[in-house]
Amino acid sequence: MKTMRKLILFIGVVLLSVSTLVAQPKVVAHRGHWDVENGAHNSISSLYRAYEARVYGTEFDVWMTADGELVVFHDDKINGLPIAKTNYAELREQKISNGELLPTLDNFLIIAKNFPEMRLILEIKSNIAGEEYAKTLSEAVIEKVEAHNLAYRTDYIAFNLDICKHIAKIRPSANIAYLNGDVEPAELKEWGINGIDYSHSVMFKDLDMVKRAHDNGLSVNVWTVNDPSMMRKLIDAGVDYITTDKPVLLQQIIREFHNSNIKK
Ligand code: MG
Repeated sequence: MKTMRKLILFIGVVLLSVSTLVAQPKVVAHRGHWDVENGAHNSISSLYRAYEARVYGTEFDVWMTADGELVVFHDDKINGLPIAKTNYAELREQKISNGELLPTLDNFLIIAKNFPEMRLILEIKSNIAGEEYAKTLSEAVIEKVEAHNLAYRTDYIAFNLDICKHIAKIRPSANIAYLNGDVEPAELKEWGINGIDYSHSVMFKDLDMVKRAHDNGLSVNVWTVNDPSMMRKLIDAGVDYITTDKPVLLQQIIREFHNSNIKK
């Protein structure tokens, strides 16, 4: 029995040290993997390329047009047209920087279904204030994601706290992270929001935020990290996700960091 107990203890110690060694952040491609020849933020091709790069997840931005269509784009205007105040009929022929057409969320999700291993990090964008708009917008997005049966691998992120609160309320099992960097993890937890997704400038002023988030059961994502030395510091700090324009570089840095820790 003593030998058995020792064996179990030994296996436990080994498992614990292995799990410590393999703890490493997951790579999120910021606006897809666009930093390639003929790439463009939030394009359908950036979605394909994120999958080809075998990232954990790909982030993209979603706006609602004046008549309720959901489109994937970063800025509030496309070719001078304010998305939230323009009907989709006027936007549908608009091209993004590499000549692809402005994708709808439908277009995007149909393609994303082909990549079952990849997580979708969906940022909900808005420049219209008020709780009512936040509710309408977040419900439209959720409805679309669920209609495509992709809720099981979609995480929601937003700068707008009303949007985060509403999603946490109506979909308590969904992952929802707040982006704006100005609310303590303990307070977000009270709203049912289960992640922080803060900028590196916020995080490096207060790296203890990682621990405070984890102590409250929140995940930690940091954006937009393209510098190798910042990447290493955040890996060391134990963040869960890093969002980057350089996903292939980050994958390499994580491998190197991991290998150098094994050798120690
Ligand atoms: Mg975004």
